[in-house]
Amino acid sequence: PYAAAGIEVNVDYLTAVAVDLSGRRLLSWRRSFQGPAATPAQAVAEVARLARRAVARMVKEERQVLGLAVAVPGLVGVDGRVRLAPNLGWRDVDLAGDLAKALRDPGFPVQVDNDANLGALAEHRFGPFGGIGNLVYLTGEVGVGAGVILDGRLRRGGQGYSGEFGHIQIDPGGPECRCGRVGCLEAVAGIGAVVGRDAQGAPVSPAEVEPELDEVVRRARAGDRATLGMLAGVGGNLGRGVAVIANLLNPEVVVLGGYYVPLAPWLLPAAEAEIRRRTIAPEAGGCRLVASTLGYGAAALGGAARVLDSVDSGRLPHRG
Ligand code: BGC
Ligand code: ZN
Repeated sequence: PYAAAGIEVNVDYLTAVAVDLSGRRLLSWRRSFQGPAATPAQAVAEVARLARRAVARMVKEERQVLGLAVAVPGLVGVDGRVRLAPNLGWRDVDLAGDLAKALRDPGFPVQVDNDANLGALAEHRFGPFGGIGNLVYLTGEVGVGAGVILDGRLRRGGQGYSGEFGHIQIDPGGPECRCGRVGCLEAVAGIGAVVGRDAQGAPVSPAEVEPELDEVVRRARAGDRATLGMLAGVGGNLGRGVAVIANLLNPEVVVLGGYYVPLAPWLLPAAEAEIRRRTIAPEAGGCRLVASTLGYGAAALGGAARVLDSVDSGRLPHRG
């Protein structure tokens, strides 16, 4: 039997998933990065370690690994190079090449792709919207990104950089973004806008995001006014962005992933109101905005989906 593997490198965590040909999960791991965002060399070492462990597990189960696709929170060119990952501070990293070297002829292809693109593939293949041809997956990580599926296919654009939804300007007078511009959507509706400041006003480090997020959810559940107001504001900003997507692409469904999932009950009402207000065709404004059911492993699962896509299209050596 076979296995397809995916690993997600995020700013503050790593996930690994392996599935069989039917998409059944064979393993699903998650570990947090401690401290500042990983350098390319650290990421290569961590991914290689996880990949070796996953392969060893698959071999033990007498499975052959058909391929590995790695998700990164940044722009990945059609040539597979990471052009820019704003929240990791990476520029022009040949992650696939470096991984192939670190894994020393693993016997299967290693691909690299944008995290939101792979999240979209996961939703399309394994999520409840599989039959839907036009779907946008919005991932709320430390950054915000979009994976665009139109007419049943993931769309990448000329260089592969389409879907940089996090860096459209929402507020010209807004805060500075990690990409160096001002008022980007991820600066006003990313996780940093939710947990961005601690009591002293210092920026919260990535490893602190999750406990902070739990605290925000706790306060929202308890009906804390300031928290509810903040989440409505973030949801409104998000909705203004989604309205642009609805006007531009007319998707049937927009799926919120990553850290947006636990916040969805409070983000959705404000976002939906903005979408209705701003979409030119009311039907497009009725595009469904929903929270992902795939969890934090969505991009890694999408990596496995990408490997399975390659098998389907005969682009992998399908031995045995
Ligand atoms: C990056 C995107 C990425 C998103 C989510 C953004 O800052 O520019 O490429 O998809 O974060 O991780
Ligand atoms: Zn930006």
